[in-house]
Amino acid sequence: MPLLGSHLSIAGGYYKAVEAAHAVGCDCVQLFTKNNNQWRAKEITAAEVEQFRSALAEKKITHPLSHASYLINLASPATELWQKSVEGMVVELQRAEQLGIPYVVVHPGSHTTGTEDAGIALVVKALDEIAARSQNLAAIPLLENVAGQGSNLGWKFEQLGAMLAGVKDKSRLGVCFDTCHAFAAGYPFGTPDEYKKTWKQFDKAVGIGLIKAFHLNDSKRELGSRVDRHEHIGEGELGLEPFRQLLADKRFRKVPMYLETAKEKNAAGEEWDVVNLRVLRGLK
Ligand SMILES: [Zn+2]
Repeated sequence: MPLLGSHLSIAGGYYKAVEAAHAVGCDCVQLFTKNNNQWRAKEITAAEVEQFRSALAEKKITHPLSHASYLINLASPATELWQKSVEGMVVELQRAEQLGIPYVVVHPGSHTTGTEDAGIALVVKALDEIAARSQNLAAIPLLENVAGQGSNLGWKFEQLGAMLAGVKDKSRLGVCFDTCHAFAAGYPFGTPDEYKKTWKQFDKAVGIGLIKAFHLNDSKRELGSRVDRHEHIGEGELGLEPFRQLLADKRFRKVPMYLETAKEKNAAGEEWDVVNLRVLRGLK
């Protein structure tokens, strides 16, 4: 069984996300290292780093993963926003590095008023600049596949593939695979045949070996809806079968997997993270 975790809040300190992860039974944790809807952020203090690291050790939570701000748009045709996004991503990597986090998940971005090809070229240019400016860091970006809302890029596997193929230094990038996003983008996983076919397509376009993390989310919306609405595991349009196959897939045994489902309680008063983890661990 791969390591399973969840995205948790850093309200009150980075260590709080670790404690919350432990409390619901996670092996690993994803977090924002700053407010995800603001460009500005306070510097991380040495005391905060120390608290975070000791919480990880004490609670035996491994594979901390950072998710970048939603404001970042590496595909923006607006020069000022593109420049700010590159700068923002470098800061995200520096903050992750400070906390000892090896990867920062980022959505490639939206081409908005530009074309798809121009957007992909801008993402490649941005990734090259980010790599050049973060060479001294161990932390690297993970491009996440998206659902394909509006002009968001990276929903087709070939778009992700083009971004990865375009960059100068391929060692400074990886991929985070989101199950809800892939399904909403039109890739089915239900039957063994669909599962096999989808991964064959992904491997050809992107490369399975580049996946360093999974986001495990069911989908409120149907296959190919291109709408990004996460649902609790087994409660949505994906159902349990895709997760059963994924967790049993030997190729992904060492890849940590994180829930990004709503933090709420079910009708029985149980935290949904607890329920979702139990459902996943119970799949055979
Ligand atoms: Zn995700």
